[in-house]
Amino acid sequence: DFSVRLQVKGEDELAELGEAIQTLARDLEYLKKERKEFLASISHELRTPLTYVKGYADIARRPNLKEEERNRYLSIIYEEAENMQKLVKELFELAKMDQHSFQIHKEPANLCDFLKKLHDKMLPAFHEKNMSLIYKCEKNITVQIDQKRFEQVMINLLDNALKYSDEGSVVSIEARAEKNSIVIIVSDNGIGIPEEDLHHIFERFYRVDKSRSRTSGGTGLGLAIVKEIVEAHGGTVYAASEYGKGTNVVITLPEV
Ligand code: ADP
Repeated sequence: DFSVRLQVKGEDELAELGEAIQTLARDLEYLKKERKEFLASISHELRTPLTYVKGYADIARRPNLKEEERNRYLSIIYEEAENMQKLVKELFELAKMDQHSFQIHKEPANLCDFLKKLHDKMLPAFHEKNMSLIYKCEKNITVQIDQKRFEQVMINLLDNALKYSDEGSVVSIEARAEKNSIVIIVSDNGIGIPEEDLHHIFERFYRVDKSRSRTSGGTGLGLAIVKEIVEAHGGTVYAASEYGKGTNVVITLPEV
């Protein structure tokens, strides 16, 4: 009868509430752990360049050092300071994204024109490493993008293709309209990514080869930023790769 039904319903709700609270507690615990790990990574990432800066500055100030040696140490200090500046800038961007104070101003743009401009801008860096940069785009694809942010996405991907490929290899940017979406692919025939790392590379500070990333000026944040920006555009991004053969990064954007 009614009172029995009410009691059972009440117990059910209580059990549901209990489960919800437990899930919430687990989520909070997870977030706390993530935050702790993130902070630990930041201090670790800053400690390495700082150690170099301090060590080399100490040597560079020795009075009887040869001029050319001093200059060599000063160049290293400068490079390390640049790395730290990049790291702090990227951390600041991610912090803004986390606080949702990050604004995307989407406007219609001709994707081929946008990619062509980017291609021309990046070409000298590729030529410097004796590499080619090919660009293929179907005519008249219109996308809704925040051009400044999206340029950051493409630069990060092309920078990676450049960093993780050997001299003389080829990188391509390809864009096409598919059934309900627009696809942009950056592909290289560089060192590739082992399968077990593939799912992690969009995480903050995740690197397959720490020393290669560091010596080429990597922060481990580039792909995390790519993911945030692409998702803020309503799109998706993933990487496919064969270790030793090359990598394709595929961005999908919603059709306008
Ligand atoms: P990083 O600053 O280290 O390049 P990213 O977030 O851009 O950081 O990339 C994360 C890691 O993914 C890199 O350290 C590298 O190991 C791997 N990676 C990214 N792009 C490529 C690529 N095109 N080829 C091979 N490895 C790549």
